[in-house]
Amino acid sequence: MTTMQPAHRAQSTSLMSITPRPDAVMLRGQGSWLWDEAGRRYLDFIQGWAVNCLGHAPEVVRHALTTQAGLLLSPSPAFHNRPQLDVAARLCAVSGLDRVFLCNSGAEANEGAIKLARKWGRQQRGGAHEIITFTGAFHGRTLATMAASDKPGWDTLFAPAVEGFRRVEFGDLAAVEAAIGPDTAAVMLEPVQGEAGVITPPVGFLPGLRKLTQERGVLLILDEIQTGMGRTGPLFAKRHWNIAPDIMTLGKSIGAGVPLAALLARESVSCFEPGDQGGTFNGNPLMAAVGLAVLETLMDARFSEHAEQVSASLIERLEGLASRIPGASVRGLGHLLALCLPTPCASEVAARCFESGLLINAPRPDVLRFMPALSASQSEVEEMLSILEPIALERIDA
Ligand code: PLP
Repeated sequence: MTTMQPAHRAQSTSLMSITPRPDAVMLRGQGSWLWDEAGRRYLDFIQGWAVNCLGHAPEVVRHALTTQAGLLLSPSPAFHNRPQLDVAARLCAVSGLDRVFLCNSGAEANEGAIKLARKWGRQQRGGAHEIITFTGAFHGRTLATMAASDKPGWDTLFAPAVEGFRRVEFGDLAAVEAAIGPDTAAVMLEPVQGEAGVITPPVGFLPGLRKLTQERGVLLILDEIQTGMGRTGPLFAKRHWNIAPDIMTLGKSIGAGVPLAALLARESVSCFEPGDQGGTFNGNPLMAAVGLAVLETLMDARFSEHAEQVSASLIERLEGLASRIPGASVRGLGHLLALCLPTPCASEVAARCFESGLLINAPRPDVLRFMPALSASQSEVEEMLSILEPIALERIDA
């Protein structure tokens, strides 16, 4: 399956140290597979952290990129361009929201959502500016999105932290109700918390939150950067609970591997005026053309049928493995799944899988996360389990 050869060492002295990386240097990818410079092959169930929804190097993205690259790259955000107009219109049509701001990363989309909520609060809610966020939240790595997140140490890491965020327990509706006050502009959350270890909210929490925010006149912001674009099954996770947010952010899979993200809002909330928001590459036609092609692919009924079948079989196979490990369980939705282990050995299991040519991730000491391409096949699920199973069982027995 995987040929073990000495890894080519990465020259890493010129890069800033932002994350521990193995020595392998990734060279090329195709579908669910990645190859490094040493010729080692990896079965990729991380996919750029839930980014490559169509797998590596999908034809549809290559075609959109090469076609658009020969036409127009960056006319500047001061002009309209056709792919930007088309993808914005399509995103509005499928999301039920009215306005779109295209940007380059999830954190940038969330930063825009925070700005929009604060401006709306100033104009429409007597100066309200506070945003309620949740334990376990992850919204990005800009200063404001770090303040909105709940990572240990982040409150002092780049002090002073951005003010105006109030954190309550994820899933606790009564706590949100108690926290909403005259200064509250919005409640912001991920419908399924990915970085926290794939945490789905308690039944009734999201519909309850929508009702509560409506009654109290504050905005509901859904961060669908990880859950959106089919990752949890439907195009947006909000459809599991049939709720309509006031603001929604998308990233990761929307570009299927290229830097594209989006901030969407209802008309009545879309209060940015010229000068409030922008950036050199926002809505550039190269990324927008990819976004449009990706969206069309994800909307194809045969594609989503395939994804649904493979997800069901992945869940079944993971549950089969969990049943052989006392205290283990499976959680998540669609292609965003976690195997919860009874001991904090997830990083070690992930590292052993890497050595055996399988990429999976350990967002928590006792949680393995699976984020395969939505295009992954049944046989790739089987192959993944054939690598994972002996490693997990041996580690648990140890
Ligand atoms: N929000 C969520 C839910 C995420 O999972 C992430 C990234 O993992 C982000 C925001 C930040 O996105 P980006 O890394 O593109 O800035």
